[in-house]
Amino acid sequence: MNSPAHTASLTAEDITRFGPDPLAMFSRNLASVEERIVRACARAGRPRETVRLLPITKTVPAHILRFAHAAGIRDFGENKIQEAVAKRAELADLDIGWSIVGHLQTNKVKYLTRFAREFHALDSVRLAEMLDARLDREDRSLDVYVQVNTSGEESKYGLQPGELLPFLEALRRFPRLKPRGLMTLALFSTDLEKVRPCFERLRELRDIAVRHDPAITELSMGMSNDFEEAIVQGADVVRVGEAIFGKRSTPDGHYWPKT
Ligand SMILES: *Cc1c(COP(=O)(O)O)cnc(C)c1O
Repeated sequence: MNSPAHTASLTAEDITRFGPDPLAMFSRNLASVEERIVRACARAGRPRETVRLLPITKTVPAHILRFAHAAGIRDFGENKIQEAVAKRAELADLDIGWSIVGHLQTNKVKYLTRFAREFHALDSVRLAEMLDARLDREDRSLDVYVQVNTSGEESKYGLQPGELLPFLEALRRFPRLKPRGLMTLALFSTDLEKVRPCFERLRELRDIAVRHDPAITELSMGMSNDFEEAIVQGADVVRVGEAIFGKRSTPDGHYWPKT
C-alpha cells in the first residue's frame, strides 16, 4: 500500500469539515453506507453484489482524498472535469479509477477521454461523436450511461424519455463508446413519494431500451438521501457523496443548472 496520509497535512479548514481524523470519519461513514446498502438489498430481495457503490468525491480536496484511499475507496466519481483533472494529477501515485458523473461540454472532451473509465452523463449525439473520435485517437474505449431526465424539471440535463430509443440507435455508430445503462438525477425532495416515480421511470425505460440494445442493462440512480429507495427500484450503481464525505459547503446549484 502507498504511504498513508498523515494528520500533519490538515489545515484548520480541513479539521472543521472532516474532523481531526478524516480516515476514521470516512471509514465510519463507509461502514454505515454499506450497512444501509445491505439492508436495502435485503428489503428488495437482491444479493448485495448486484449493487455497486460509486463514491462521489466532488469538492473534497485532493490531499483529503488520500484518506479516502486509505479507507479503501478506489473508485472516485467527480461531477466537473476540471476538478477531476486537477485531482488526478495530484493523486497520480495512487491506484484510482475515475468516473465523470456530470454534464460535459464538448470543448472538454479531450480531458475526459485521457483517463476516465466511465461517463454517466451522456446526453447528446454531438458529444457522443466527439468522445468517440477522441477515444479512437487514443485507442481507448469508455463505459457510458445515458442520462435521462425523469423529473421533468427543465433545469436538469438529460434526454427526454421519448428521445431515448432514437439516441441509442445513433450510438451504434460510435464503437469506442460502450453503453452500459441509463443514469438519472431524481427530483430533489425528501419526499420519497416524489422521488420514487423518477426511479420507476428509469427502470421502465431500461426495460424497453434493453430490447433494442442488450448492453443497456444497468441503472445508475440514487444519491445520499435516496439510495435505499433507488436500490429497491432496481439501481445497479448508486452515486453517494455526502453520506461518505460529509456535507459540502458548495451549493448544488454549482453542479446543476439553477431551477
Ligand atoms: C454530487 C452528485 C452525487 C452525489 O450526491 P450526494 O447527495 O452527495 O450523495 C450523485 N450524482 C451526481 C451527478 C452528483 O453530481
